[in-house]
Amino acid sequence: MLQRAEPQEFDRVLSSMCTVPHPAARDAAERFLATNPGDPGTYETVAELEAEAVDYLGEVTGLSDPAGYVASGGTEANVQAVRIARNRADTDDPNVVAPVHAHFSFTKAADVLGVELRTAPAEDYRVNLAAMAELIDDDTVCVVGVAGSTEYGYVDPIPDIAALAHEADALCHVDAAWGGFYLPFTDHDWHFGHAEVDTMTIDPHKVGQAAVPAGGLLARDETLLDELAVETPYLESTSQLTLTGTRSGAGVASAVAAMEALWPAGYREQYERSMANADWLADQLRARGHDVVDPELPLVAADLSVPMTDELRDRGWRVSKTGAGEMRVVCMPHVNRSMLRSFVADLDWY
Ligand SMILES: *Cc1c(COP(=O)(O)O)cnc(C)c1O
Repeated sequence: MLQRAEPQEFDRVLSSMCTVPHPAARDAAERFLATNPGDPGTYETVAELEAEAVDYLGEVTGLSDPAGYVASGGTEANVQAVRIARNRADTDDPNVVAPVHAHFSFTKAADVLGVELRTAPAEDYRVNLAAMAELIDDDTVCVVGVAGSTEYGYVDPIPDIAALAHEADALCHVDAAWGGFYLPFTDHDWHFGHAEVDTMTIDPHKVGQAAVPAGGLLARDETLLDELAVETPYLESTSQLTLTGTRSGAGVASAVAAMEALWPAGYREQYERSMANADWLADQLRARGHDVVDPELPLVAADLSVPMTDELRDRGWRVSKTGAGEMRVVCMPHVNRSMLRSFVADLDWY
C-alpha cells in the first residue's frame, strides 16, 4: 500500500488551512527529522533553532523580547494559553470567555483543563463586545479574540477585547493561528504592539508555509510561561513547559527555514496575491448572483447550496462549508488564479 500511495496533490484543494511547504522548509524538515527539541540539553542545535523561531515570530507579532515555543499546532498553543491563564488565576471555578467563532480547540482546552467555556455571539462575523462583557465575571481567567477566524477569516476588535480582559484582571489571548502571517500586511490592530495582548497563537504550518507540525505559542512575558513548567528528572534539562514531551525537530527547523526565506517580503507578496485572488473570486461569485461574505483576509464564504458543493467534490474539488452551510474557499499560497478560473468554470457547468 505505502509504495503505491501518493500524498494528496494540492491542485484542487480549496478547503485546507495547510499548504505546500516552502522548498527550504521541506529540506530543513527532512534534515532535522531525527531531533527532539523536547530534550534541549541533548539536542542543542535544534534548541537554538527554536529560540530563533520564537524571535522571528516576535518580529511578525510586534513583540521585541518574545517568550514562547514551537508547538505541535494551534490546538496545543490554545490549550496551553488557557492553561497559563487558569494556573495563574486564583479561583476554584475558572471560566474562559471567547467569541462563538473561536476554534473548536477551545472546547478541547475547556474539557481537559476543567474550565468553563463561555461563548459570546457575533455580529457581522466579529464578536459582539457588549455581549462579551456580560459574560465576564470575577472567575474569568482569559478573554479570547480571534485574528482571522477559521470560518470567515474575520478579525475581532483585539484592543477592545484586551481592555475587557484587563478590567477583569484576566489574560487576553489572541488566536492568530491562521491569520498571523497575512495580518502584518493589513491595517488591522491585532498584535502585541497594538494592544495589551498577553499570549498569542500563530502557526508557521499554515500561512507560514512550514511543514507540519509547527504551531506557535507566544507570551509577552517569560513569567507567564513559568505557569506551565513541570520538573523533568530524567532529562538533561530540569523543566519542561510544552504539552507534548518528545516532539518534532522537523517542525522547528522548517519553521525557521520558512521564515528566513519569506519574512517579510515573501509573505507580503503572498498576502497581496492571495488577497487579490479572494477579491477576484468574491466578484465572480457575486456576478453569478450568490451572496458573498466580503473577504477581510484571503478566505471567501458564499451561500452556494450544499448539493452544489457535493457536486464539486465529485469533480475533484475539495471545498468545505461553514457551520451555516456556506461554501468556504481558503486562499492559501497554493491556490492560484488559474486554479480559481477552472473552479469558476466548473461552477458555471452546473
Ligand atoms: C487551524 C486553527 C487552529 C488549530 O490549529 P491546528 O494547527 O489545526 O491545531 C486554531 N485556531 C484557528 C483560528 C485556526 O484557524
